Amino acid sequence: MGLLEGKTALVFGVANKRSIAWGITEAFLREGATVGISYAAEALEKRVFPLAEENGIDFVDKCDVTSDEQIAETFARAKERFGTIDILVHAVAFGPKDDLGGRFRDVSRDGFKLALDITAYSLIPMAKHAAEMMPNGGSIMALSYYAAEKVLPRYNVMAIAKAALENCVRYLAVDLGPEGIRVNAISPGPMKTLAGAAIGGGRKTFRHAESNAPLRQNATLECIGGTAVYLASDHGACTTGEIIVVDGGYHVLG
Ligand code: NAD
Repeated sequence: MGLLEGKTALVFGVANKRSIAWGITEAFLREGATVGISYAAEALEKRVFPLAEENGIDFVDKCDVTSDEQIAETFARAKERFGTIDILVHAVAFGPKDDLGGRFRDVSRDGFKLALDITAYSLIPMAKHAAEMMPNGGSIMALSYYAAEKVLPRYNVMAIAKAALENCVRYLAVDLGPEGIRVNAISPGPMKTLAGAAIGGGRKTFRHAESNAPLRQNATLECIGGTAVYLASDHGACTTGEIIVVDGGYHVLG
């Protein structure tokens, strides 16, 4: 019997088969969960729909998380389809290209607002809607990155947004804990995804982490999926407010 048998998950942030959201979806399906997925925009449908179809996913919903209305509508449709859910995955981030790279002092006000809005704030209304569908408790998880803690080249506005996201995770963990809802983040090392490619010099960062991490490997979709299964399952029942790093051990290096 799978670790997530009888559980239902809603996963935001699928863009293509390399997306961390998709890696987590596949791991959840392997463990017996029912999964609904969400994507940001029409342009992604040609990649997202076939993935869903091939894997028997019948809830595939468009949601731009900058819109409170769209978030509310997606959760309303999910409620209609599933009734209740047990797991929410927030694998969504965005930072304008001009504010990723260059001098940090040049980060724009509009870029800052947008990056914080999509990457960090959106977790709050999503967690609120999800909690209303979690009468028996549940597990919410977001995706962060090491740049939330340490200064890394080019991450600029995204680093600030991830720091805010990690604190949203802790505040939500305290707010939702009494209802039996756990809130955590997974912080993977660099991955070759669309979001990863948006940061200039991504390939160099990827190779450097791979050759220096204690395990001499970067995170894989399977490793991240496995951590997500742990957090979503009853094995993670006493873990909340945590940032779990999945990076081959890179972050312990001085
Ligand atoms: P990805 O590009 O596949 O996923 C990012 C997703 O965010 C996409 O599906 C995109 O459509 C979605 N998104 C952007 N703006 C949105 C909006 N307004 N509304 C709804 N969705 C929106 O890349 P990924 O690497 O799988 O990223 C998933 C998460 O993992 C992100 O939070 C990212 O910061 C995080 N992460 C990535 C890496 C990496 O190296 N790739 C490392 C650590 C953490």
